[in-house]
Amino acid sequence: MSTPVSAPLTSTDAAELGRLLAAGEVSSAEVTQAYLDRIQATDGDLGAYLHVDADAALAAAGEIDAARAKGEELGPLAGIPLALKDVVVTEGVPTTSGSKILEGWRPPYDATVAARLKAAGTVLLGKTNMDEFAMGSSTENSAYKVTRNPWDHDRIPGGSSGGSSAAVAGSLAPWAIGTDTGGSIRQPAAVTGLVGHKPTYGSVSRFGLIAFSSSLDQAGPMTRTVLDAALLHEAIGGHDPLDSTSIDAPVGVLAEAARRGAEGDLTGLRVGVVTELGGDGHTDGYEPGVLARFAEAVALLEGMGAEVRQVSCPAFDLALPAYYLIAPSEASSNLARFDGVRYGLRVGDDGSRDLDEVMALTREQGFGPEVKRRIILGTYALSSGYYEAYYGQAQKVRTLITRDFTSAWDDVDVLVSPTSPTVAWPVGARVDDPIAMYAADLCTLPASLAGLPAISVPCGLSDGLPVGFQVMAPALADDRCYTVAAALEAAQDSARGHRFLDGLATPAGGAA
Ligand code: GLN
Repeated sequence: MSTPVSAPLTSTDAAELGRLLAAGEVSSAEVTQAYLDRIQATDGDLGAYLHVDADAALAAAGEIDAARAKGEELGPLAGIPLALKDVVVTEGVPTTSGSKILEGWRPPYDATVAARLKAAGTVLLGKTNMDEFAMGSSTENSAYKVTRNPWDHDRIPGGSSGGSSAAVAGSLAPWAIGTDTGGSIRQPAAVTGLVGHKPTYGSVSRFGLIAFSSSLDQAGPMTRTVLDAALLHEAIGGHDPLDSTSIDAPVGVLAEAARRGAEGDLTGLRVGVVTELGGDGHTDGYEPGVLARFAEAVALLEGMGAEVRQVSCPAFDLALPAYYLIAPSEASSNLARFDGVRYGLRVGDDGSRDLDEVMALTREQGFGPEVKRRIILGTYALSSGYYEAYYGQAQKVRTLITRDFTSAWDDVDVLVSPTSPTVAWPVGARVDDPIAMYAADLCTLPASLAGLPAISVPCGLSDGLPVGFQVMAPALADDRCYTVAAALEAAQDSARGHRFLDGLATPAGGAA
């Protein structure tokens, strides 16, 4: 279901904005100004952005409008505004990764993702808030501010890409880029009613993403519709010689897969419901409303011709402990570069201290508590005498998880689960309980550890708050995620008579 004809520019899908821009019905300057006005009016409450440069955005929009006026050949995304998570390095534009240790840093280059979006003619509205170094599930670990969920300002917008989710759900950007290491695109998308896709590991360049856990990090789209996600993914994906883990394969025809899915025919598609992710005997920590919406969505898929069966993936029960050893281990190594010498903050360099003392003081003051916890955890897991017991064991579990997926693909085309065991929780509710915070990632971690593509698409409301449905697919079969998600989106949109996010304008528990 596309945007209603009379919708304001700030609630128009990105695909439709692209059409209006190409047809000359609206200018990029007008669209950009509409978003800047809305940011000005509402971001004081929402806290989605860390940095907005209105002059730069309007200048970029003006250049696109001028090029179009001259009749230059422009791509389908030209003139559409966008927001980038602050983990994406942007030339000359402040980039902090949500940390005080990078305050004031203006990178001398663009990440490949940023460069590709610039080359496509998109207009950067600003950089969005995030958990410090992408460590978290609520955006409360940002060193700068709390971001609120547009559905309920007393609740978290998910994390770590919570600035991006709040910006898009709150109509402060038509779409945004997030990054996902263990769920940071999918979980914030789920709890704010967006579509969020984590691409196959290696299919979107990591060059210029500030590294958290290099064997897991991937950038991807956070959007209002499945088609928008596919379009944004196509723009950022594909081989990049600057990333040594980049897969040398084309990004695939994702928008076409989304359009095909929206036709609603899933005849012959084999769908596996993962028992360990909220199924029989595995419902601890899952809210009944989440499980009910999930079951209804599965029934919708069946109604469109999909063959649904249960699939057991026993090693998924170990994904959480394995992830929370592997990711901190890699982080402890990646974050060694923040030493007070090369970037950003430097503390105590007044001539009275030696280099080690300056480094220690800088890291002591520059990193927040969760980042320190991860560095300590990771350093311990990698240390001599413990390496085999912790990091080594976790890597073995990772292999078992990959094997569970591989054997599942003998029987099914996609696996499905809830995206998050709960809806958005109240701000502050989990800040003192890291284990409860980590539990938000139960459903997203298996695909992360196996490097597989996974999408979250809205599947209704529980207590007036969005619930996400996750579709996981084999490596490089991202198109299947888009097809299934688009089918579900189209079926739900036509049943409720409007797009999911339009429900945000209705009272809680309303029409969506
Ligand atoms: N919540 C997870 C963590 O804290 C995942 C974060 C992410 O995907 N960046 O590590």
